[in-house]
Amino acid sequence: MFAAFAFVLGLVLGSFLNVCIYRIPRGMSIVYPPSHCPSCGHRLSPLDNIPLLSYMLLRGKCRYCGASISPRYPLVELLTGLLVLSLYIKTGVGVDFLIYLPFIACLVALSFIDIDTGRLPDRITLPLTALGFILSLLPGGLSPFASLLGIISGLLTMYAVAVFGKALFKKEALGGGDVKLMMAVGSFLGAAGVLFALFAGSILGSFFGIWFLARKKGNVIPFGPFLSAGALVYLFLEKFVLSSLGI
Ligand SMILES: [Zn+2]
Repeated sequence: MFAAFAFVLGLVLGSFLNVCIYRIPRGMSIVYPPSHCPSCGHRLSPLDNIPLLSYMLLRGKCRYCGASISPRYPLVELLTGLLVLSLYIKTGVGVDFLIYLPFIACLVALSFIDIDTGRLPDRITLPLTALGFILSLLPGGLSPFASLLGIISGLLTMYAVAVFGKALFKKEALGGGDVKLMMAVGSFLGAAGVLFALFAGSILGSFFGIWFLARKKGNVIPFGPFLSAGALVYLFLEKFVLSSLGI
């Protein structure tokens, strides 16, 4: 019962994230104006805005002008629904659920914004870092000290990777956005989470990077989605990962 509620909550949250992913890089407000079709500008009714269902009922086309709607909208909704469901399965109803819900939401939004624009906006990463520290004051999750240590290790580790990468490849290997993203990851997951996310993100990134470079030459690969995926793997497998390392 609660599991179904968590999934639906995730779908609705994903629908809101779609708005954020489109509007935040464009410097638009995320609450005003109400949703409209990007092709014909027609305002969407609540019926056009039901996560997943509207897309299926409308067969991926705008009701008013017939323009195709990107399948990415229902994909982001489904992804967020599954992540929130997984979080509920891990934490149940409680403080931990409330702590990690905004973290997951921001990682999804940041990943898709990075794919679209190659940027990780400060408007999300910096407040998220602060939020991670504030939430560490609550019982559950990390201690405030561990959160602070996580922020510092995110900053220092990524700074070291950036300097080292620049010396090695003679060009910017990492953006400042990646550094701030890992500060946010550290504020929620601590120093071990930073190291794991960087390690897993690098493996995923090089695997997909080879495939990506084989198709499109010379393009910069956004690193944010891989770091975010590494952070989520750590969040969901934390106990397993730590125990397998003997910590
Ligand atoms: Zn339209």
